[in-house]
Amino acid sequence: MSGNESRVQAIHQITNREPTVVQQTEPLGKIWACDVFNLAKMEEALSKTAYKAVKKTVETGAPLEPSIAEVVAAGMKEWAIAKGAKFFSHIFYPMTNITAEKHDGFIITSSEGNAITEFSGSLLIKGEPDGSSFPNGSLRMTNSARGYTAWDPTSPAYIMHTDNGATLMIPSVFMSWTGEALDKKIPLLRSNAAMSKAGQKVLALMGETEVARLNSSCGAEQEYFLVDANFANARPDLLLTGRTLFGAPAAKGQQFDDHYFGAIPARVQIFMQDFEDQLYRLGIPAKTHHNEVAPGQFEIAPYYESANVAADHQQLMMTLMKATAKKHGFLCLLHEKPFAGINGSGKHVNWSVGNATQGNLLDPGKTPHDNLNFLLFCGAVIRGVHKFGPLLRAVIATASNDHRLGANEAPPAIMSVYLGDQLEKVFKDIKDGKVVASTSGGEMDLGLSQILKFERDPGDRNRTSPFAFTGNRFEFRAVGSSQSVSGPLVAMNTMLADSLNWIAEKLEAELSKGVTQADAVVAVLKVLMDEHGNAVFGGDGYSAEWHEKAVSERGLKNIPTTADALPALREASVIELFKNTGVLSPVELESRFEVYAEQYILAIEVEAKVVVDMAKTAIYPAVMNYLSDLGVANASMADLEIEIDDTVMKTVALEVNAMMAAVSKLDKAIAQHDFASTEEHMQFMANDIRSLMDEVRLHADTLETEVDDALWPLPKYREMLFIK
Ligand code: ADP
Ligand code: MG
Repeated sequence: MSGNESRVQAIHQITNREPTVVQQTEPLGKIWACDVFNLAKMEEALSKTAYKAVKKTVETGAPLEPSIAEVVAAGMKEWAIAKGAKFFSHIFYPMTNITAEKHDGFIITSSEGNAITEFSGSLLIKGEPDGSSFPNGSLRMTNSARGYTAWDPTSPAYIMHTDNGATLMIPSVFMSWTGEALDKKIPLLRSNAAMSKAGQKVLALMGETEVARLNSSCGAEQEYFLVDANFANARPDLLLTGRTLFGAPAAKGQQFDDHYFGAIPARVQIFMQDFEDQLYRLGIPAKTHHNEVAPGQFEIAPYYESANVAADHQQLMMTLMKATAKKHGFLCLLHEKPFAGINGSGKHVNWSVGNATQGNLLDPGKTPHDNLNFLLFCGAVIRGVHKFGPLLRAVIATASNDHRLGANEAPPAIMSVYLGDQLEKVFKDIKDGKVVASTSGGEMDLGLSQILKFERDPGDRNRTSPFAFTGNRFEFRAVGSSQSVSGPLVAMNTMLADSLNWIAEKLEAELSKGVTQADAVVAVLKVLMDEHGNAVFGGDGYSAEWHEKAVSERGLKNIPTTADALPALREASVIELFKNTGVLSPVELESRFEVYAEQYILAIEVEAKVVVDMAKTAIYPAVMNYLSDLGVANASMADLEIEIDDTVMKTVALEVNAMMAAVSKLDKAIAQHDFASTEEHMQFMANDIRSLMDEVRLHADTLETEVDDALWPLPKYREMLFIK
């Protein structure tokens, strides 16, 4: 196809598409979790002893006896085969943001040649993928990258239906033969355990007699774009990199705010319904959906669940979202910034910690005593964000999220905490010594139970903060839409564990002086606020003033790119943090630095290659055709002795020359490979390569506004964002 033929065809296809047939959906009660081997199904399928043992493991994380695994495997197999599954697979979560699976048949044949099925406890518990092609960082050296998967009984198995039939999926961890974590699940489980241990210590010091294991919860709001597949197929950049590397802004963008919370287009509604029904079958509690700010942008948020299950569900959701979108003729873009000049996509990670005996510890609670516990946990978060701000920045650092952070629509790359006016005042009063606990030894009520109630009104929340308290949880808003939530959850749980350990130590010292609990809490929190209160900020996080003051007056770090952010994983304080809490050994942490750095470099390298390719093979030929048309027209005018204004021709010629000059600089830069260190290589990508890509784009986008529309080969922003 030449010229804009592919664009014209795409528009034709879209405007003449047969309307998607609305599927009649089944009632929720009938489909809810029907494909999940959850506790309810286990109760039916297993013996009483086996069921009790598994339930205990799910609820307390206690290890499972091999004999029990045998019984569970038999029950699970029966259930899965009855539902049509012929294969099973351990599903695991490598250090990249994807999921991995290796499918195995239940089938074996008997000596008589009959097909029988086999699935033992040991097959359930342990799988052996060939781990060598997953990025493992420095762990590659220590154990030649072989690894195995092991069932995580705390996340239920389920049946995945695809066009290729039904498969039993078994959520698993992925580790090396020497026991190092090669995945994103093991650190999450360990971080929960570390946080629980530290939290229990604090609660015991607060006089709680019964303290159940603590767990973290996560509810992730997922933003995404839908672009018609006909357009996407004509955009190599969207297909290969998930974002547009070229594209002049449309005359109409999002300035009217007419998409936000507007009526969802019918075609998208049908997609959502199909997608959500699949989620329900898999026991994923999809709760809200709506249009987002940008045209073509939407959001889905499931109800929150235990962090480990939520993380698995989040991965599954992203997979299903892309597959279902495809079925409905869309490309689903999870990239953080698919369109320049249009809002990007994030993933707000709502996070809280609690247990069965004290409830949600980030909820102010009803009694003065609950309030003290709450203040300690809240204080622990403040300390964590202050002390480990660069770590929080590092765990959300990807090449794609760099485009979004710090832009005027997304949280800044400076880590601060928003508490809301009243809570901020409570902490400030504690810091200023204005809160004096009662001398009578009675309990102190800071009145939080009353005043914090209306914090839950979403109206007065500060949307510009990367890390906000929202009434009974914290919301980490800087997380990228394409990311796994595990990294951020691990960082939050671990920094909380560290802070709670610190609090426990201080609290114990105070209490040993014989003061009341209230006095001890206030004293500890005063020290905490003196040292870490600088992270608390309730103002406008987008303002230039904050960007200045955060750094110069508060000593916070503004970390603009992934190249600047990832080295935090190599800092002594971060290595100590993960080592002391038992979440990641130094070698495990280092391997993460290496994998993330490699991913960053590769992501930009691929983009740069696509820029060169598209500029040379799509844009340049279109521009030259236009110039030749203009040339012919000019020549014929000259024959008539009419002098025609050649400004456009000159502009186009100069722009195309400039574009090709930038392309050749970029091409040369891509070939550069001699870097002294990974850090240097990342900086080169962040600065040299990215700016050369921008330079090519600048000229190409100018050309898009000059060249005859009939010749322009790439679907334009106005088409991709507005034609549905
Ligand atoms: P908003 O868009 O106003 O931030 P949403 O209702 O879209 O809020 O999403 C809030 C998310 O936070 C949901 O996933 C919700 O289940 C989750 N959530 C609510 N309470 C908690 C909690 N205590 N801990 C963790 N997540 C929570
Ligand atoms: Mg939110």
